[in-house]
Amino acid sequence: MNSNGEYPRPLSKRESEWIGWVLPSGRKGYREFRERLTPLLVIGEGRRGRGEIILGRSGETPDFSTPLPPVFAYGMIESDAGGISITLREMADDQVSVEIVSLRGDDIPGQFAEHRRWTYSTWNPGDACPQCQMECRQIQMRGGADVLPLFTLAICSTDRRLWVHDGFTEVIRLIPVTNFYNELMLHKGIRDPRVALDSKNLFKDLRNYSDGDLGLAFQSYNQLKTKVRGEGFLPVEKPNEKISFKKILHFLKRGFCKGRRRGVSLRRSCRDHGSRQIGYRWPQDRRDTQFHRYTVVVPPSIRRDAR
Ligand SMILES: [Zn+2]
Repeated sequence: MNSNGEYPRPLSKRESEWIGWVLPSGRKGYREFRERLTPLLVIGEGRRGRGEIILGRSGETPDFSTPLPPVFAYGMIESDAGGISITLREMADDQVSVEIVSLRGDDIPGQFAEHRRWTYSTWNPGDACPQCQMECRQIQMRGGADVLPLFTLAICSTDRRLWVHDGFTEVIRLIPVTNFYNELMLHKGIRDPRVALDSKNLFKDLRNYSDGDLGLAFQSYNQLKTKVRGEGFLPVEKPNEKISFKKILHFLKRGFCKGRRRGVSLRRSCRDHGSRQIGYRWPQDRRDTQFHRYTVVVPPSIRRDAR
């Protein structure tokens, strides 16, 4: 406990509500993160000063010996008191940094009128950008042997933001533009400093890069800074490829019978959609922003195999 007795303390009601909002419990990855936060208390202020709190175990003090972890969840509340951003970072040694700050740099008033709020945490492939509501470039990727697209890289040129949706955990990870752009320049063999050294060119020249270029750049980046599980995944080059119902059943059966992680994910989806059904997003046509939700009824034979 610090000298003035301010810490440890439980989260305030609104801290709790805002953290819960950027960690939606309907999504596997966020739900698991929430569960890990449950026993933690606010143990002090973070290294970034006012507005940053550290969650940790009672009796501990904030540990600043490790580098600031990457962002895990982010949301923005737009209000008459200006923008209020909520940033949660990955857990490091059972401690989590939470920044809740006013973009005006003021203290957040006790009462304010909320106009709108948005977060990446509820974004789904096919959706518009959560921040500007504009259509964003989306590149689907799948594991080398997988049939279904598993990861979706999204790029918003208006906000100059990149993020990736992991179909397994349903978590969205923000991607730093500069690191991604470096990988893209290496992949394309572009050395002209006027192009290669200014990552803002990514958004200006976005249409010049194919899904393959962007997908491979993401793969290289992910090998350096793992944002999503999996190796050797590839951009989906033919999103309208016809895949037979038999093939889908084979895929489902493989997941159920061999107890692969994919199968676990499907069983969870199964609970979400009723005992006999599985929902999954599926590309419908060549435009990579068009998706439709298909529901597959699992036949009793497969359900028996799963037990
Ligand atoms: Zn946007």
